[in-house]
Amino acid sequence: MTDAKEALQRLTDGNARFVNGKSTHPNRCDETKNSLLNGQKPFAVILSCSDSRVPVEIVFDVGLGDVFVIRTAGHVLSDEVMGSIEYAVRHLGVNLVMIMGHENCGAIKSAVKSYKEKSFEKLSPYMQSIMKHIYPAIDKIVCPCCETPLEDLSVKANILYQVEDLLKKDNFIAEKVKEGQIKVVGAKYELKTGKIEIMTEKG
Ligand SMILES: [Zn+2]
Repeated sequence: MTDAKEALQRLTDGNARFVNGKSTHPNRCDETKNSLLNGQKPFAVILSCSDSRVPVEIVFDVGLGDVFVIRTAGHVLSDEVMGSIEYAVRHLGVNLVMIMGHENCGAIKSAVKSYKEKSFEKLSPYMQSIMKHIYPAIDKIVCPCCETPLEDLSVKANILYQVEDLLKKDNFIAEKVKEGQIKVVGAKYELKTGKIEIMTEKG
C-alpha cells in the first residue's frame, strides 16, 4: 500500500514529466491489463472537473489501475461523489485524496454569473444541483464593499471549499485525516503550463 506522502510524490513526479514533455505513459500494456483482472490497488483518489482539458491520467502521467478518478463539472461533492471517495479509502486502501480544480473553469464561471444575476431559479434542477455546491464557495469571496464576487479568486475558493466540505461532512474521512492515516489535498491545474499547484494539504 502506498502511503499518502509517497502517493503525492508519485503524482507530483508524474505531473513534472508531463509538464516537461517527458511523459513515460506507464502501465498501459497488456501485462498491466492482465495483472489487473482480479482487482485494483490505486494509489490515489482524485476528484477533478469534467473539463476536457484536464484529463487526469494524462496530466499525472499514470496508467491503468493507478488512480481512482471521479469527475463532475466544477469538481463538486455530491453525496455520490463522497460515497465514491469513501469507497476508495475504505475498500481499496487509498491513502491520498486529491480534489483538483483548474483555471478558467466553465462551471465556476456559470456559478458566478448566476450568483451575480440571481438567476438560480431559472436554471434546470440538474444545473441547480451543481450550483448549490459552488455557491458556498462564492459566498466566501464576495467583496464587502461592492457585494460582488471577486471572480479571480473563485477557482481557488472552490477548491478550498470542496476540501473543507468533504472534511466537514464525511466523518470517516475527517477521522482518518486527524489520525494522520490519509491526506486530503486541494490542487489547481494551470491550463497553459499543465502544472499542478497544491493549494491546501490536510493530514
Ligand atoms: Zn472546470
